Amino acid sequence: MQKVRTRIAPSPTGDPHVGTAYIALFNRCFAKQNEGEFILRIEDTDQARSTAKSEQDIFAALRWLGVDWSEGPDVGGPFGPYRQSQRSSLYQEQIEVLLDSGHAFHCFCTAQRLTDLRNQQMADKTTPGYDGHCLHLSKEEIAQKLADEQEYVIRMQVPAEGECRFEDMLRGEIAINWQQIDMQVLMKSDGLPTYHFANVVDDHFMEISHVIRGEEWINSTPKHLLLYQYFGWQAPVFCHMPLLRNPDKSKLSKRKNPTSINYYRDMGYLPEAVVNYLGMMGWTMPDGRELFTIDEMTDNFDLMRVSLGGPVFDVEKLDWLNGKYIRERLSDTQFMQLFAQWAFDEQKMAQIIPLLKDRVERFSDVVPLAGFFLSGLPEISAESFVHKQLNEEQMRKILQFTLWQLENGTDLSRDAVEQECVRLAAYCGFKIRDFLFPLFVAITGKAVSTSVIDAISIIGIDVSRARIRAAIGILGGISKKETKTLEKDFRDFAQSAE
Ligand code: GLU
Repeated sequence: MQKVRTRIAPSPTGDPHVGTAYIALFNRCFAKQNEGEFILRIEDTDQARSTAKSEQDIFAALRWLGVDWSEGPDVGGPFGPYRQSQRSSLYQEQIEVLLDSGHAFHCFCTAQRLTDLRNQQMADKTTPGYDGHCLHLSKEEIAQKLADEQEYVIRMQVPAEGECRFEDMLRGEIAINWQQIDMQVLMKSDGLPTYHFANVVDDHFMEISHVIRGEEWINSTPKHLLLYQYFGWQAPVFCHMPLLRNPDKSKLSKRKNPTSINYYRDMGYLPEAVVNYLGMMGWTMPDGRELFTIDEMTDNFDLMRVSLGGPVFDVEKLDWLNGKYIRERLSDTQFMQLFAQWAFDEQKMAQIIPLLKDRVERFSDVVPLAGFFLSGLPEISAESFVHKQLNEEQMRKILQFTLWQLENGTDLSRDAVEQECVRLAAYCGFKIRDFLFPLFVAITGKAVSTSVIDAISIIGIDVSRARIRAAIGILGGISKKETKTLEKDFRDFAQSAE
């Protein structure tokens, strides 16, 4: 029997997502329960969006939850390197195999041609996709174009008719019509592989036995299976997990729910409770108990008991579970130690103390002045926002624009935050003092405190986002119509800045 090897393959773009942790947890349980290995691979083929910080955040978030791995970029292992950007030569080698066998082909179509094609297909109401224009170029034509240094990508051939049938561990047989499947680009013009190609090549060479991933990949599976077939490799078993949902059943999104693991850490949740809660997403312990550790979950795990109805990630339910952990699982001493560890995080304190030293006369001034650094959502109401120059609509705009702007940039240093606020204030035609007022109330919850710019930089984007969103809610919320107007205005701002 093939050894069980599962993997989580996150792309290091943005925050460490609860969805990544959820899929990682189920992969880890399945591997451990079958005495196999769970590995972590970084899929950083999108060089423009991948960052080292995001990669580090993923490692830290999964470790914090106790979802650890036995092979990965940071711990090494026999199938490395585990970062796709370091595996380019392998992809080059393998693409040659497909070119030689005729299963992949050079495509020299320009971006303009592809746009025209797409527009035409939309107008004709046909399935958008590549039309095979370069499929039958002769060897000589290709050689000539290459000699002329024309830009190209490499695409895979896809059957024109029939359907792809495959077994999904949870869903049984799935059939997808080949007509719905595009002649996927495997290698981009910059010589880097696309997700689909690198993912299959790596799963094969890393001897992954079971691909357990989110259901958003179901429609990509035919392409992946076809690649296995072209190479003559044994395909892994596929299992598509249900996606996490917001309480309104829409796909979990940070607009409606905090999705970054960092948020839950920064708000003072216990990792044991968060991972327990993730274990309850579409899965239950055989005896129905609600509190369980990751080891207990592993011991009792059965992937086939995952239920497909979209599991709801409900922060209120998590709060309840976390409260139970605090009451039932922590002694007073543990509470004290864990609280102190969380509250007096050295890195954070090193940033806060200099701000306090200038402003306090006694230690007893610290909590009234800076308690907001440690609290969740400040206790504020519409009255907290009463201001001589600004009305509620203007304040909502300031808050929303700042949030979008902060989410756009990865740099949350004090200077960068300040610069963005100054630019936004100028664009919106507010004095910076006035502009900062609603942010000040939203973030610090007070009329007087340390600078709000420092505060945003220190508490980070996740907690800032939660506070800004709460403030917008207090100010009456933003209707769909208002969102549209704001989005347009914000796009104008972004363009004016280019
Ligand atoms: N890099 C993909 C992601 O970000 C991996 C998907 C898969 O597991 O195949 O989710």
